[in-house]
Amino acid sequence: MPTEVRKAAVSLHTCLKMEPDVEHDDSRSESTCSTTQSKSRYYRATHHSGTGICGPTNITPNMRIFVNRSLHLEKIKFFGFDMDYTLAQYSNPEYEALQFRLIVDRLVVIGYPSQIKDFDYDPTFPIRGLWFDTIYGNLLKVDAYGNILVCCHGFKFLKTSEIYNLYPNKFIQHDESRIYILNTLFNLPEAYLLACLIDYFTNSTEYIPGKNGIKNGNIFMSYKSIFQDVRDAIDWVHMRGSLKDETVNNPGLYVNRDERLPMLFNRMHSVGKKTFLLTNSDYAYTAKIMSYLFDFPSEDKKDWKEYFDYILVDARKPVFFSGGTTLRQVDTETGALRIGIHVGPLTPGQVYSGGSSDVFTTLIGASGKDVLYVGDHIYGDILKSKKTRGWRTFLVVPELQREVHVWTNKCELFNRLQDLDVQLGDTYKEMDSSCKETPDISQLRTAIREVSHELDMSYGILGSTFRSGSRQTFFANQICHYADIYASTFLNLTYYPFSYMFRAPPMLMPHESTVEHEVENHEINEIEEEAIQEPLRRRSRLEHSESSVPHLFAETPNVVTHHHDTDDDEDTDKSAEN
Ligand SMILES: [Mg+2]
Repeated sequence: MPTEVRKAAVSLHTCLKMEPDVEHDDSRSESTCSTTQSKSRYYRATHHSGTGICGPTNITPNMRIFVNRSLHLEKIKFFGFDMDYTLAQYSNPEYEALQFRLIVDRLVVIGYPSQIKDFDYDPTFPIRGLWFDTIYGNLLKVDAYGNILVCCHGFKFLKTSEIYNLYPNKFIQHDESRIYILNTLFNLPEAYLLACLIDYFTNSTEYIPGKNGIKNGNIFMSYKSIFQDVRDAIDWVHMRGSLKDETVNNPGLYVNRDERLPMLFNRMHSVGKKTFLLTNSDYAYTAKIMSYLFDFPSEDKKDWKEYFDYILVDARKPVFFSGGTTLRQVDTETGALRIGIHVGPLTPGQVYSGGSSDVFTTLIGASGKDVLYVGDHIYGDILKSKKTRGWRTFLVVPELQREVHVWTNKCELFNRLQDLDVQLGDTYKEMDSSCKETPDISQLRTAIREVSHELDMSYGILGSTFRSGSRQTFFANQICHYADIYASTFLNLTYYPFSYMFRAPPMLMPHESTVEHEVENHEINEIEEEAIQEPLRRRSRLEHSESSVPHLFAETPNVVTHHHDTDDDEDTDKSAEN
């Protein structure tokens, strides 16, 4: 990581802790650190520059794959792919705008006021991972623990005091009967539409807004019923509406095609990797989209199906990763399902419908860690495949393009934050607990808030998908937990050899990210030395005692047993045996 950005990362990590409106219950929040350290201590970055970054040369940030848990590509035998928003990258914002328009049209058909047709999809508003509170009709940006970072009712952003009035301690528990998590890229137009509708009904003179809904004469519409209407309209648009037809009729407008796709699949096969497609879409739609994606002139022009060793449609993820459904073969001529349950084997070039991960992995002869599954859905693709099958996971996060752009191009703002941070530290220089005076830091606090806000707005109206100030979002936390690796597109695999070892950078705590390794600390050294010596003396005494207890103390391992970074049992065990 370049020095400037590295410093900026530290500044962001430490400095924004002073924001007055991020009051919260520390027991639930990320750990905090002192803001009075001197400049020299703000040096180490949240992540080391030496791991997870080095790799093939000439790789720009947008070409990179980021690592949460180390992964050795050489060990992967099967590369599995989701289709929608993974292999098929839909054009943003055209595809979201199309969905938005079709959902609005459907709502008007079922009785919503035709004025809502005046709304246009605004891609700068929604971000992934928002929670919708169906009781109060609010969109919430929350951290990993449910602490509310941003709250908006329609287009109105609630002030801190207003949030406290609705949500004690600015906190909300994830309760499935109340909260809907807008986790997928398909949810982006939905999030914006919910804001549009709540704003419209709250501010139109014909309606009287209440705490849980709106009234018009003797008609009451709860926010929950508005949410349910939107959900039903979305299902209708996807299942029975014209979304699929409009997409396959205008693929050039709605689907991004990239000639690296067939090249990557050819390269995977050339080094002996198996590939499979695992999509919830039906065969007819899948065939049209995949034909378009793989349609490039080449000497060995192949049908799209030849790029995959196994093809599963109608997978019904996440159900696929638990009980699953009946596995059946698809007649690729007619698209009809063959009668009866397919019991195997799975034949290359054939297409299958349904099934379960249990049956599928048995039929292809894969164990959990042999499979790298690439998808865009943190729950349906990534969380479930990892939790239930132990598959290695690769999350596609197109938002990274924008996020990395801000991270690298708003250096000046990050530097300003760091300078303010240093000024704050200097304010307390030469002071300790005997000081009675209270320095006036109000100007600095205001400046920090203003720069933080400006930085947040660089990402979009709701700020970054991954953070608010120093706090990570619920969505970012889920990525850290369940995605082994992640990138803006799976096509970034083309920049790494299939022997590549992705190594995770350490997850540093504030006492690690803000303290240099090189800092002299004689006082601690002496205490540490004594802490080691005393147990050694005690062990020496025990060694010479005549006890019949088999082991009186634990021996320090003299082979590598504590190495978890590579997440590779075989290598670790071999190393321990040698
Ligand atoms: Mg998908």
